[in-house]
Amino acid sequence: MNQKNPSLSVETQLVHDDPHAEGAIAPPIYQTSLFTFASYQAMVDRYLGDVHQAVYSRVDNPTNSVLHDKIATLEVGEAALAFSSGMAAISNAILSIVRPGDRVVCIKNVYADTYRLLRGPCARLDIETVFVDGTDIDDVKKNLPGAKLLYLESPNTWMFEEQDLATLAKLARAESVLTIADNSWASPINQNPLQLGVDLVVHSATKYISGHSDTVAGVVAGSKQLIERIDQDVRPYLGACLSAQDAARLIRGLRTLPLRIQRHHDSGLQIAHKLAEHKNVKRVCHPAIQKQDFSPLRGYGGLFSFEVSEAINIPLFCDALALFRLGVSWGGYESLVVPAAVSHSQFGANNAAVDFGVPPGMIRLFVGLEDPSDLWNDLQQAFDAATNAPSGNES
Ligand SMILES: *Cc1c(COP(=O)(O)O)cnc(C)c1O
Repeated sequence: MNQKNPSLSVETQLVHDDPHAEGAIAPPIYQTSLFTFASYQAMVDRYLGDVHQAVYSRVDNPTNSVLHDKIATLEVGEAALAFSSGMAAISNAILSIVRPGDRVVCIKNVYADTYRLLRGPCARLDIETVFVDGTDIDDVKKNLPGAKLLYLESPNTWMFEEQDLATLAKLARAESVLTIADNSWASPINQNPLQLGVDLVVHSATKYISGHSDTVAGVVAGSKQLIERIDQDVRPYLGACLSAQDAARLIRGLRTLPLRIQRHHDSGLQIAHKLAEHKNVKRVCHPAIQKQDFSPLRGYGGLFSFEVSEAINIPLFCDALALFRLGVSWGGYESLVVPAAVSHSQFGANNAAVDFGVPPGMIRLFVGLEDPSDLWNDLQQAFDAATNAPSGNES
């Protein structure tokens, strides 16, 4: 990215790259596993670190470097790395910090596979995790002394509760506890955790950064020192590298990220407010509606949830929807719906120890890029089709 001119706005910086070979406007996709050397001496110079040249694509690829620079600039970090999934970004970030015997403090209601990573593989490496209520500063504070890592996700992606990232990051720093925040929901357009004092920010780039539901990827950004630690201690050996093809798709997605986020923001708010007034909706969980004074969010996306009244038959509601497709992901162009009753049945007995606090009447919506009035009409006809008592008969 054009880091020589930081006064340019994010929109402009996302569109402009440093010049590419042959004057190519789009970054060349270096579809190669290795890079060769012109001479013995050139190879020696590279291995001594005197010159920068990619050696092997598991570790380094010029297409990926373009992406790294753009992510670092977007998240206002010194450096960034890309991975083959959001979970690869999260596991690399966590494993660069913790050792056997260490303790992690993590918010309840965290992304389900992050929870499973901490409860499964990390626990088996003798890394203990304490799950705390991220909205309760005292609950977090009393668990920090002696911990190594505080893991945050604000807001989380079922109940959309925000944590006070700035206050929690400060408390953690005072106890020499490093912090990671999953910023997938807000996207770098609407929130920058590093500027709030968080040490590492992670994203499922599968969601907004890709934006086209055709790529699985993840990114991490932070200080040069912490990113180098990930790059040198864990990333090459865990091997979850992003392909150059996928890096190029993410760079393309980034060009329109601010535009897409603005559209998700506008349509999402419009539909959330209409749902909040609907007679068969008990509550809407959306950070704009559950507004917190401390919130650093500059805007909202298209993902939120609502709880329906007992009058609504949820399977009928989901099946009656024509534009909202049933599916778990989000952040692409298409609108989606997930009922909590289905999504949370997967936790099973093994994971019953944590109360995720998601009532069975919750439905999560992702408001895509379609015309919001078409989407609202779709929701309205689904409510009508799924109402146990015919809606015309109220007194
Ligand atoms: C999807 C998601 C992840 C995991 O990312 P993948 O790209 O699927 O590995 C992590 N955190 C949040 C909030 C997510 O929505």
